[in-house]
Amino acid sequence: MPNIQGVYAREILDSRGIPTIECTLWLDSGGVVATSVPTGTSVGKYEAHELRDGDPDRMAGKGVLQAVNNINTIIAPQLVGKDPGMQQEIDDLMIQLDGKSNKSHLGANSLLAVSQAVCKAGALAQNMPLYYYLFQKYELMRELMIPSCIYTLINGGEHGADNLDIQEFQIIPASHIDFPDSLNLATTLFQKLEEVLIIKGAIHSVGLVGGFTPNLYSNSDVFEILVETIKSSPYTLAQDLFFGIDAAASEFYSGGKYTLRDRAEAYSTKDLLEYYNKLRSLYNVFYLEDPFAEDDLDGWSEVTKTLGDTTKIVGDSLLATNVEKVKDAIAKGHCNTLLVKPNQVGTISETIDVIKVAREAGWQIVMSHRSGETNDDFIADFAVGTGAEYAKFGPANRGERVAKYNRLSQIYIELEQVRLKNEQQQATSGAVSGVTS
Ligand code: PEP
Ligand code: MG
Repeated sequence: MPNIQGVYAREILDSRGIPTIECTLWLDSGGVVATSVPTGTSVGKYEAHELRDGDPDRMAGKGVLQAVNNINTIIAPQLVGKDPGMQQEIDDLMIQLDGKSNKSHLGANSLLAVSQAVCKAGALAQNMPLYYYLFQKYELMRELMIPSCIYTLINGGEHGADNLDIQEFQIIPASHIDFPDSLNLATTLFQKLEEVLIIKGAIHSVGLVGGFTPNLYSNSDVFEILVETIKSSPYTLAQDLFFGIDAAASEFYSGGKYTLRDRAEAYSTKDLLEYYNKLRSLYNVFYLEDPFAEDDLDGWSEVTKTLGDTTKIVGDSLLATNVEKVKDAIAKGHCNTLLVKPNQVGTISETIDVIKVAREAGWQIVMSHRSGETNDDFIADFAVGTGAEYAKFGPANRGERVAKYNRLSQIYIELEQVRLKNEQQQATSGAVSGVTS
């Protein structure tokens, strides 16, 4: 098996023009892999530490040269000669080199860049596609499948333009729709939505991840617009697709209240629960991500108790891809679905551990991008290879988002080819046994 010969990191820009890290790793067989890490905007307070230089004279304080240097001078020399298949050992070694519980010494961004590179190199060393390497290495599910995609159409909150409070308004094609049809649905509705927004004079611009940021009076108005859009399309709500939101509620929570432009008076936790209840029954909103602030645990327990049977209650900032947080949420019934962002924790091995704990509790998994992305499609393979039921990669537009959807398309074709081959083999062996019996 080939071993690691070198690791080299550099500073690159993400889709927002903010620095992030790219890591290149080469093997003594001559094989080379490169990968880069995403970064968030609505960053939860329980996430591992993203190391930034803080030098106001360079990259507006957001440079990552220190984190890059940590890879090149501290981590890289330790990895030379190691087998890239030893993901756990390498991740443990980096965690030890960092020495801080939130990875604030070397930076979770440094650790993840190397961890992803090791993962890609492990697949290369075995001549396997990354998703298949993950599938056979971690055995997290029986069969490979493409996750159902959660497409953002409209952005508000920290991803918007001071237009709406809720961060993402999403459409989720029904599970019987296969990936090519799901992409067709998302693309069709995105373009129809643009027409509807133009007619209404509400078109404004697009947000951080490419969703529209319309000028509307309230957050719930968005659903009226989306319903109208769907009516002008070949699709039927609650049959072909459902709605979802990422409220990212910590961003509009202050002094124990939630401020939404839907009414003058701020919402208590109970009021906000009632608001979600209405969205659920009026508009088929069956996916609620971060419906309450990360520390408003009463809100989380109540929403799971009252809507959890029919609705996905999804923990992003609440759980921060942190194993202890997930265990606590399972024990206390705070939510029922795990959103996974590897950069919230900092290594691939820890991310896999979190997924295992959620799976054991019978939770479903949503694999997620970040608002600051690169053209790396690692997360698409990671979603397929870990058996995530859902993938959230933003709207199906803009280079850094479509990189992930295009990778899913490629994996879909590969999986279809394998399926057809298996069917043909079964048919042939059935015919042969029919002849010989
Ligand atoms: C999210 O909140 O799910 C998200 C993708 O946003 P960010 O990356 O800005 O945290
Ligand atoms: Mg979120």
